[in-house]
Amino acid sequence: MSELSGPSKNVASFSTESFVPSKEVLAAWQSVYKDLRNEFGEAVYRSWLKPLTLQAFYHNTLEVSVPTRFMRDWIQTHYSKRILEMLSGNYDDIKRLEVVVVQAAQTTELVEEDKKLKGNDNKTLSPAMEELNELSSPLDARYTFDSFVVGKSNALAAAAARRVIESASVPFNPLFIYGGVGLGKTHLMHAMAWSLKENHPGKRVMYLSAEKFMYQFVRAIRGNDTMTFKEFFRSVDVLMIDDIQFIAGKESTQEEFFHTFNALVDQNKQIIISADKAPSDLTGIDERLRSRLAWGLVADIQPSTYELRLGILEAKRKQLNAVVPQSVLEFLALKVTSNIRELEGALNRIVAHADVAKQAITLESTQDVLQDLLRSHDRRITIDEIQRKVAEHYNIRLADMHSARRSRNVARPRQVAMFLAKQLTARSLPEIGRKFGGRDHTTVMHAVRKVEELVGEDVSFAQDVEVIKRALTG
Ligand code: ADP
Ligand code: MG
Repeated sequence: MSELSGPSKNVASFSTESFVPSKEVLAAWQSVYKDLRNEFGEAVYRSWLKPLTLQAFYHNTLEVSVPTRFMRDWIQTHYSKRILEMLSGNYDDIKRLEVVVVQAAQTTELVEEDKKLKGNDNKTLSPAMEELNELSSPLDARYTFDSFVVGKSNALAAAAARRVIESASVPFNPLFIYGGVGLGKTHLMHAMAWSLKENHPGKRVMYLSAEKFMYQFVRAIRGNDTMTFKEFFRSVDVLMIDDIQFIAGKESTQEEFFHTFNALVDQNKQIIISADKAPSDLTGIDERLRSRLAWGLVADIQPSTYELRLGILEAKRKQLNAVVPQSVLEFLALKVTSNIRELEGALNRIVAHADVAKQAITLESTQDVLQDLLRSHDRRITIDEIQRKVAEHYNIRLADMHSARRSRNVARPRQVAMFLAKQLTARSLPEIGRKFGGRDHTTVMHAVRKVEELVGEDVSFAQDVEVIKRALTG
């Protein structure tokens, strides 16, 4: 073991009296300390070396202290050697440098004052770290557990989130929540952060997007101050990173995140991650990191169900204190299926419109106001998809959608598919006909009429059509 990195000693175990440094040692230390800024640069000095405090001198060993182990380790590996050279150059009795960790026992009056000011927080941050502390993204006041509607599609994620905030320990690490755009990942993350802040005010909860994490990291590299960054992220109690897929392909950020991740897991600190895909499906993310991400609990948020969408609309209606007919909510829940942000937006729009126009909300006015949205939404369902779903449902071959076969067991499903194509897409009859093996538009028209007729007559047939339609619209 080198003399620079010997085991750290607790100063308190010495009788300090006999280790009081001589005048010469003191002078050497003061002179070197003054030179540190010049020698290592402002950023390194401010973040790492400034806290160095002379503790003792014994057996040609100068002992200095820093407040954290992380700092000690970093200084030992990066700066100790040079600092010792500087010291020996000043006073050749100094042959070894020992860096030790001294925490609360040595607090000065200033630190005490600072603590009083900050309340019961025993972690004081350096100015550079304070700056990073500001980084935690603001939390949306509306995104709480109370306002999060739970349904089949998000039940697992919601339960896992509650588990994390209710547990005294770390139940699983990390909690990894994934799902498509606008399905409530950020809402759930904010809800957890709010709840943690409320129930554990002493905990340092850091919530930020992966994009911001990367931005700060790059900034730290540019400013030559990655150590503050490292120490900061390794010192939080709960780290929440939203949209981790953003760091795909960003190798150095991934590397940094990987080390942060491991350091926090080692300290048993909770990590919560969100992404648009499962860990195994994240492309552009290093294999090591991907496997780590799947270590804890992986909870998905599935595309919303009709029931959940209706539930969210009902909650939102209450929140807006607006009069909206149930039939309108049902219509929206059926039509706006892509994501919940859009669904909320649609409701906001019709409520705002009714407010301005001083008219009651009806199904007609809703269709009118949301024309563009409904049309763009319709375009998202393709005839190919419809054909696939219908073929699947009736257990026939996809090729039969285009074939000339007329036997009833393929002709009927084909008609259903044409009917749904007419209803769920903006395609014209001739366009639809072309997609079904080049059939004439009158054939399509006939199919639409036939299906309409059958739906009115045959309950089980109507149910089949409805099931397929639901499957297609979410
Ligand atoms: P993501 O982060 O997955 O893209 P968000 O969390 O930003 O999605 O959600 C989009 C919008 O939908 C937000 O306004 C959010 O409040 C709302 N939302 C999503 N899921 C729910 C839910 N289960 N209950 C209530 N609101 C929800
Ligand atoms: Mg989000």
